[in-house]
Amino acid sequence: MALVAEIIGVGTELLLGNTVNTNARDISEGLSALGINVYFHTVVGDNPSRLRLAVEIAKRRADIIITTGGLGPTYDDLTKQTLAECFGKKLVFNEEEAECIRSYFEKSLHTTKFTENNMQQAMLPEGCTIFHNEWGTAPGCAFRGDGKHVIMLPGPPRECNAMFNNCAVPYLKALSETEILSHSIRIFGMGESAVEDRLRDLMTELKNPTLAPYAKEGEVMLRVTAMADTAEQCEALMAPVIEKVREALGDIIYAIDEDSLESVVLRILREKNLTVAAAESCTGGLLQKRLTDIPGASKCFKGGAVTYSDNAKTLMADVPAELLEKEGAVSAAAAKALAEGIRLRLGTEFGLGITGVAGPDRDERGNEVGTVFVALSAIDGAYCRSLHLGADRGRIRTSAVNNALDMLRRYLTGLKI
Ligand code: AMP
Ligand code: MG
Repeated sequence: MALVAEIIGVGTELLLGNTVNTNARDISEGLSALGINVYFHTVVGDNPSRLRLAVEIAKRRADIIITTGGLGPTYDDLTKQTLAECFGKKLVFNEEEAECIRSYFEKSLHTTKFTENNMQQAMLPEGCTIFHNEWGTAPGCAFRGDGKHVIMLPGPPRECNAMFNNCAVPYLKALSETEILSHSIRIFGMGESAVEDRLRDLMTELKNPTLAPYAKEGEVMLRVTAMADTAEQCEALMAPVIEKVREALGDIIYAIDEDSLESVVLRILREKNLTVAAAESCTGGLLQKRLTDIPGASKCFKGGAVTYSDNAKTLMADVPAELLEKEGAVSAAAAKALAEGIRLRLGTEFGLGITGVAGPDRDERGNEVGTVFVALSAIDGAYCRSLHLGADRGRIRTSAVNNALDMLRRYLTGLKI
């Protein structure tokens, strides 16, 4: 039987809407990869009696209770005290953690002037497994009580994620004797419902491994998760399912277990020792941001321009003024000229050009919002996609960038663009 976990976010700022509960999202994603079910997310303010109530409810419906937040040094950080009370544990002072907190202040913050309440963070439930916080000060911990597993993680997302991945995941893996492994299949070029439609029978009939869809921004991800005695057995269970998914979806699968279109594109460019440049209008540099988010991008991404006005298109990417006059800035010809112009300017093997109407209004030539042309220029010629991407400004931009990256991926892997 799969274990069930419940995540309790602690913090008044979460209830007020000042902070988005990203910790719950990230932890849930991690738990799903471990094959642990999550049926409820709870959020409570910095209030011990309501937190106690949330814990009592979670105890009735989960095997594992994970809290985030409220481990800090201030008066409203009450998670440890409250959870210890709920499970009848005492808090005890841990000298090693106290020393770590002292040295964190000295080394990272270059001060010895910490206040005594920082030492509150070294008070931990008796008998717990301490999760040392290498990314901040407040340690987290895990303990067993009343037949449940309790895990407490700090609130700041950077610390919470690092501690979840480095400390909580190994702890949770050790709980179960079975091995749980998963692979994510990344798809671009088909909507979630169409993917589900093609795979519905497979998804419903499979029990181990399971196959489940996740909609990501502008793309689709499928996760295959298997449970068995060993990692090899998990892989053996998953291999035929991945093969069936490949048969059903073909080359719209752009990666297995790789993070994003941009990381796939950069990897292939690096392997082939090729380079790319970009000229962007309606995406305002988003493509270049996405590429440069990836460490090591400089090997293959040489630069580009944000050519928002007609003048900029001519000045920075050599798009002929007559072409813009005749065809308009939102046209296949302009996209191709942007891609080619920037490629020649920067001496790269590939150029990507994006031009379109991100809204909220039509452009002066009457092109509808969401009309976007994405072009790829290569040595053997230029290719263009003419797209209609709906009316949401953010989605139009994300999708335009995804399309540009997908065109280059397909070209690089010898697929039809
Ligand atoms: P705390 O550990 O409760 O002192 O929280 C420290 C900071 O982490 C707060 O200022 C919040 O902005 C942030 N934080 C707390 N809980 C969450 C959460 N569930 N998701 C995202 N950020 C959070
Ligand atoms: Mg707090």
